[in-house]
Amino acid sequence: PETHFGFQNVSEAERREKIYQVFENVAEKYDVMNDSMSLGIHRVWKDILVHKMNPSPGTLLVDVAGGTGDIAFRFLNYVRSVRERQLQQKLRHHQNLSWQEISKSYQEEKSNPLGDSQVVVCDINKEMLKAGKKRAQHLGYSEGLSWVLGNAEELPFDDDKFDVYTIAFGIRNVTRIDLALQEAYRVLKPGGRFLCLEFSHVSNPLLSRLYDLYSFQVIPVLGEVIAGDWKSYQYLVESIRRFPPQEELKAMIEDAGFLKVDYQNLNSGIVAIHSGFKL
Ligand code: SAM
Repeated sequence: PETHFGFQNVSEAERREKIYQVFENVAEKYDVMNDSMSLGIHRVWKDILVHKMNPSPGTLLVDVAGGTGDIAFRFLNYVRSVRERQLQQKLRHHQNLSWQEISKSYQEEKSNPLGDSQVVVCDINKEMLKAGKKRAQHLGYSEGLSWVLGNAEELPFDDDKFDVYTIAFGIRNVTRIDLALQEAYRVLKPGGRFLCLEFSHVSNPLLSRLYDLYSFQVIPVLGEVIAGDWKSYQYLVESIRRFPPQEELKAMIEDAGFLKVDYQNLNSGIVAIHSGFKL
């Protein structure tokens, strides 16, 4: 069947192949490019996603299309800080704890700073995973983190496994979004939460004009200058324009079976966070 790659019409197989090439080409420069294209704002969007998730220690997360680990690293930082805060509160509010009890709580926290939380980063692209693993090593993340090669349309995981499923700037690149959503539903535990951070559609006409100008005139040039790769960044812009708007994506998520589906626009809809539950 026919689909599209940006503004070009292609077959599904061709699209998958082209998207693989895009991320293979950009893998090494991916993080630098994200910062320069978004002027660092992608960091704020990702922080907001993890705050919205508000994971407690013990959460099992799968970050699909997880690339170089941005969501995974934020998740690990978040649960670690929640656990630290919990310990501090315990110590502050229980002034009549014996020193043995204090010492036990402290040791428990130090020996298991994540409280058994885990994140699995799943991505279809070997080069992106390679860049992510290298980065994790460099930044000192290893505990509670694993990397799995896999396709969002056919996840290599059992049913009812994860507490939370995230996909950040990934679903736009998936060829069969309906299949990816069904898979998200399948691998979540009942009660589990689906969260998707993705470029969306800007409603404010003035901002929309400025954003178009920036996207079509500046982004491919930056792509060429910084990464020597005009085409990949032209695809980036085109894929954003072709991606379903907020309400349409919401309906697709509901079609996959999710309940209480909602979204939050960030920066007037430049990106949106869709959320739903498997209940
Ligand atoms: N989530 C990361 C982030 O926010 O920085 C990476 C986002 S990057 C724009 C898109 C990622 O989606 C790439 O790493 C790409 O390999 C991955 N991807 C594309 N199609 C996929 C699929 N069908 N299944 C899993 N990952 C896919």
